[in-house]
Amino acid sequence: VADAVVGSLVDVVGPGHVLTDADVRVGYEQDWTGAFGGPARAVVRPGSTAEVAAVVDACRAASVPIIPQGGNTGLVGGGVPEGPGPPGRGEIVLSTRRLQTIDPVDAAAGQITVGAGVTLLALQERLAPLGFEVGVDLASRSGATLGGMAATNAGGTRVLRHGTMRGRVVGAEAVLGTGATVTHLRGLTKDTTGYDLAGLLVGSEGTLGVITALRLVIDPRPAQRAAALVATTGFDAALATAVGVHRRLPTLEAAEVVDGATVELVMATLDLPPPVAGHPTWYVLLGAAGPGDEAEDLARALDATAGPSAVGVIDAVVAGDGPRVDALWRYRDRATESLAAAGPPRKLDVSVPVSALAAFVAAVPDAVARCAPGAVLHVFGHVLDGNLHCNLLGVPSGGGHRVDDVVLDLAVGLGGSIGGEHGIGRAKRSFLHLVRSPAEIDAFRAVKSALDPAGILNPGVLLPA
Ligand SMILES: Cc1cc2nc3c(=O)[nH]c(=O)nc-3n(C[C@H](O)[C@H](O)[C@H](O)COP(=O)(O)OP(=O)(O)OC[C@H]3O[C@@H](n4cnc5c(N)ncnc54)[C@H](O)[C@@H]3O)c2cc1C
Repeated sequence: VADAVVGSLVDVVGPGHVLTDADVRVGYEQDWTGAFGGPARAVVRPGSTAEVAAVVDACRAASVPIIPQGGNTGLVGGGVPEGPGPPGRGEIVLSTRRLQTIDPVDAAAGQITVGAGVTLLALQERLAPLGFEVGVDLASRSGATLGGMAATNAGGTRVLRHGTMRGRVVGAEAVLGTGATVTHLRGLTKDTTGYDLAGLLVGSEGTLGVITALRLVIDPRPAQRAAALVATTGFDAALATAVGVHRRLPTLEAAEVVDGATVELVMATLDLPPPVAGHPTWYVLLGAAGPGDEAEDLARALDATAGPSAVGVIDAVVAGDGPRVDALWRYRDRATESLAAAGPPRKLDVSVPVSALAAFVAAVPDAVARCAPGAVLHVFGHVLDGNLHCNLLGVPSGGGHRVDDVVLDLAVGLGGSIGGEHGIGRAKRSFLHLVRSPAEIDAFRAVKSALDPAGILNPGVLLPA
């Protein structure tokens, strides 16, 4: 069976795009965190929507599971094989990286149509000279694909102003698990003609269809970008600073928090100098973008919020030119990779209402210490989105550690969610019931079985078995 399926994939895409050699497959089989993955039967790299459809047909005919994969930067194990399955059922990784088309910008609509395998960085580089940008931005921009970002409903550092991928996607083309190709890429602002299939694919984590192209809303590129890094004595002061500046500065687009231990780890990993004097316990990084003097406006809003009389603010640095702005962002942008170098960390991405963040941050160290003594907790995230990434070093990776239950329960108990922006994947499927009712999970399953009746797309991802 294995050879017959692989043989039919070779017929579809040619031998150069079916990878069976273990050394070549390995980069597609192991996830970015090093915590998830297993051997695939083969990796197939279709170069067009028609080839994706033929791959899905061949796998359906042989009941072989498909793992859609973009840049493989996902953090919940959804884009790599589960591991060796029963004989004859080894998964095929379907890599979208050859779906590389970028259509001309539709400047009148402020939209663009792109292949699912285009990376965020490639699109940013294409749009910048034309005076546009994507709106969503992530530290994984050089690897993450637009298809993967839609499939995970990625968030990132500009959600505060520009929303998540859900708000960017106004049309999609996809090959569903049924084998049918659905194309709706007109991008009309007003279009009341039935179910929003593109919207359904956003956040579906490869379980309903393989996204092959997207119609995206893009934004005019702002003339100026500025950043401020504020050092504080505690989370409450960091949050108060972010809230105060947000209220005063309409051009604020990013408000990120990073705890002191994580900034120290980034400094040690990248050999960076301390951004400010002293030993702050929390930093808040603020980003503004607009037509005016953003550095001056940001400094003014910061002074009004966190001037000399503000409680808990130690120091602040403001930058208004590209290299200095980038230099400040390094203390936040390089956190994930610094933790990976020290890890692998156990990653728990949670969101809670902004009003409950302080309670979460106060309770989480004790909660971790109780069930994972010796673990080192690093927390950073998108503070005004209520989205924090808890990273634990010194706890074994892989399924079923009690610390997951405790931290996720804490977030849910405060009115939050077990997945802020990374998705459910394989990592959190057994926790879905904490945030979705039986009726909702039944509705999810009904949608799944309508669009993927044979259950060949990403089995074991998102929905518990
Ligand atoms: C350093 C670093 C920083 C990060 N920062 C952020 C952040 O700020 N915000 C954030 O949201 N995420 C962040 N991430 C996580 C990750 O980059 C995002 O989840 C991203 O959207 C994944 O895109 P990808 O192309 O790598 O997808 P993959 O990892 O390849 O796949 C992710 C999921 O999407 C599915 N999928 C991929 N492509 C398709 C497709 N074409 N059709 C259907 N399903 C598909 C896969 O099956 C899988 O379930 C970060 C990751 C790293 C390593």
